[in-house]
Amino acid sequence: MRTLGLIGGMSWVSTAEYYRLLNQAVAERCGGLHSAKIVLASVDFAEIEELKLAGNWGAVAERLAQAGARLESIGVDAIVLCTNTMHYVASAIEASVTVPFLHIADTTARAVAASGVTRVGLLATAFTMQESFYVERFASHGVEVVVPDADDRVRVSRIIYEELCHNVIRDESRAFYRDVVGRMDADGVILGCTEVELLIGPDDVDVPVFPTTQLHVAAAVDFALSG
Ligand code: GLU
Repeated sequence: MRTLGLIGGMSWVSTAEYYRLLNQAVAERCGGLHSAKIVLASVDFAEIEELKLAGNWGAVAERLAQAGARLESIGVDAIVLCTNTMHYVASAIEASVTVPFLHIADTTARAVAASGVTRVGLLATAFTMQESFYVERFASHGVEVVVPDADDRVRVSRIIYEELCHNVIRDESRAFYRDVVGRMDADGVILGCTEVELLIGPDDVDVPVFPTTQLHVAAAVDFALSG
């Protein structure tokens, strides 16, 4: 089995989910007491957020690239960055390592394209919904992404940082997310923040759901168990 190098802590709540899902999937596929081979580099999210809010993306890229390089020096076979938003600096991390970088948007876009959904909504952090890096990555796979309107984007994002990243799950927020999905003119929805699938899932909305954490984990397990 190959070893996965996780860059996590953004937030710890979703990184814990990665850890659980990776191990569960390996146990299911390999049986017995098998579990995933993982090395985790977990950052202090507050430090990263501070740099991000100051617009110091160079320093964010440097920190995460260093984490990737450290993981490679320990001997991991691939890098898994456990947050969608920080894929903004994916190319810096990729450049700092020689092992594969398993990109969360590529994994998700392949799943959307394979499902036949061509116009998909996005629930994510304000940054991921507003900036072009994420939407354009999907466009390169032939998938059109639509985002909520400005007011909805603000509240969707606030729920991520003020509730989900603190492991707070509220029915009222779930109801709001469902309403936002209903307001988007889309045939499916990307849960494009690694905490969002803790709040809503396929039973909450009428369109197909694409949970980025689960899809990223599935791709990582395929990688770990191949070759
Ligand atoms: N985990 C979230 C994501 O997938 C947000 C945290 C962050 O800003 O990295 O985008």
